[in-house]
Amino acid sequence: MPQPEGTPPPAGAAGDPERAAATPPRNERVQLSERVHALLGGVNCAIVDLGGGAALLVDSGQDKDHGRRVRKALDELGLTPQVVLSTHSHADHFGGNAYLLRRYPEAQVWAPEVEAEVIRAPLLEPIYLFHGAKPLPELTSKWLQAEASPVHRVVAAGEQTLGEVRLELIDVRGHAHRQLAVLVDGVLLATDALFGAATLARYPLPFAQDVGGQLAAFERVATVEATVTLPGHGAPTEDLAGLAAANREAVERAAAAVEAAADGVGAEEVLARATAALGIEMADLPRYHLNLTTVMAYLGWLREQGRVAAELSGGRLAWRRA
Ligand SMILES: [Zn+2]
Repeated sequence: MPQPEGTPPPAGAAGDPERAAATPPRNERVQLSERVHALLGGVNCAIVDLGGGAALLVDSGQDKDHGRRVRKALDELGLTPQVVLSTHSHADHFGGNAYLLRRYPEAQVWAPEVEAEVIRAPLLEPIYLFHGAKPLPELTSKWLQAEASPVHRVVAAGEQTLGEVRLELIDVRGHAHRQLAVLVDGVLLATDALFGAATLARYPLPFAQDVGGQLAAFERVATVEATVTLPGHGAPTEDLAGLAAANREAVERAAAAVEAAADGVGAEEVLARATAALGIEMADLPRYHLNLTTVMAYLGWLREQGRVAAELSGGRLAWRRA
């Protein structure tokens, strides 16, 4: 995900680990079912064949270069996008929209509520990462601020029919505030509700905005009947239950590290202690702010659980284990 121009994306970032695509995108196209094709890369996209030459594109990648690769895949498949579903508003998942809409002006962008507002006004992402203030310039690179895209339709969880295909949009909020996943033709397009095992190993503090939501999402997707699951970052797998369990364990480990660090200190000290305990190095401001946002998500959830308290005294907000 995010990182300053000209340098590789920050690893270990919260964002989506993605937001930290430290390896060059492979952009390999693989067929996951009769109708579903995945474009694997630093961030994964999927193309669903709706019949009649039309396609549903699920996420568009990080930027116009990624959009170009998506277009090439669509050309090879002989498909034209009818709908671009942006599953959430992190820059690496909708940054290809603007390019693709210039090529396919008839395409309609769908996105969930809240996420739609950030997709329309992408400066909101660096703004929220900098506590609502005018963001530092380091937070406005393409890793954190994509080109703006219209959203033609705000969609919620439920069934949809597109062309010859029925699909189910699943509420998997947590990694992002109103994230959706897609179940179509026996394939679960989990997007950033689930990260691949290698991604989790590399980024022990996966980006989170709502930890309770994430844990509920793991439960929800684990029971889905899918023959193949495509995570937002990482390789497709047939072991959905195992992937959901690995993601839950990663969140539990991160929660334990944050809880242990909350020893009557401020959030920034909790961040420093928790990342040290998890072996994460933060060498740039995007990574720092992504991880700080994630730590705030954990602290808020731990407080809801009665596991930490927030004590405001002497001009300091201290977080303390209960
Ligand atoms: Zn994301």
